[in-house]
Amino acid sequence: MSALLEVRGLRVTYGGVVAVRDVSLSVRPGEVLAVLGANGAGKTSTLRAVSGLVRPAAGEVLLDGASLRGTSPEAVARQGVAHVPAGRGIFPTLSVADNLRMGLYGTGRDGTPDGRAAVEEVLESFPILRERQAQAAGTMSGGQQQQLALGRALVQRPRLLLVDEMSMGLSPTVVADLFALVAGLRDRGLAVVMVEQFVGQALQVADRAVVLEQGQVVASGTPDELSSDDLAAAYLGGGGEPSVTVRPAPLSAAESLPVDLPGRDVRKLEQWAAEQGITPRQAAARLLAASLERT
Ligand code: ATP
Repeated sequence: MSALLEVRGLRVTYGGVVAVRDVSLSVRPGEVLAVLGANGAGKTSTLRAVSGLVRPAAGEVLLDGASLRGTSPEAVARQGVAHVPAGRGIFPTLSVADNLRMGLYGTGRDGTPDGRAAVEEVLESFPILRERQAQAAGTMSGGQQQQLALGRALVQRPRLLLVDEMSMGLSPTVVADLFALVAGLRDRGLAVVMVEQFVGQALQVADRAVVLEQGQVVASGTPDELSSDDLAAAYLGGGGEPSVTVRPAPLSAAESLPVDLPGRDVRKLEQWAAEQGITPRQAAARLLAASLERT
């Protein structure tokens, strides 16, 4: 199947700051693409360029083969692109149901039977939102609020879902549940672009991933391809993963020291590598492989 979204040679600048340089990526219907990388790597700017929130300095964003150049964010949304921003952007004092209805704003379906059906479909898919529909959104847990943010995007009935840092501030168990929800959406044919810092969990869901560093794609491929040491060295060296707790490493049970390694602590990585008698690059590969094995 051909790409629903194609980004070619994207460049995003803010004044003199180049946030994204020459980024190309694509995603097909029924596919999850993870965009990985450390803080400031250009992940959010890439998403914002796709949804029309920033105007690319160069390059092209194509939806179904047609350029989105000059298209307003509202018009991009009407073409089937829903963006769940980092921080979720829900309205804390409004009820869950009202937050969902806000997702219909600008679609022309607000207050119509079709709009009500779209909200009902989301309530069907997210039982917790139905249970809490009369409750103020801000009183729900972080994971529930993230479900609401996803639900509000889904009432638009998008073809392409852009999700920025869904895992931010949430526990690994809650994140795993949210990623399972995303996998379910993918299985229903949605194309998903997911910006993440939780590499291990993201790669368990993603069909393919791109790794950004300083605005550029430094690695891309399937999770299997990316478990090579190139990605690990580039990514851990760049300091992205918030914290990697390594349980029994799959490569060798004898080497399975539990290590809690903050992503940016390269010295700790080097020390662990020395203890293992391997190079830091090999250590990084093993840590990544172990994080992929985490359950
Ligand atoms: P994070 O996880 O911290 O959001 P990111 O990978 O999403 O990181 P971006 O937010 O896209 O990265 O930022 C890329 C670069 O652009 C950074 O250097 C950032 O400081 C800069 N930047 C982002 N937004 C703006 C802005 N509105 N004005 C100026 N510079 C910006």
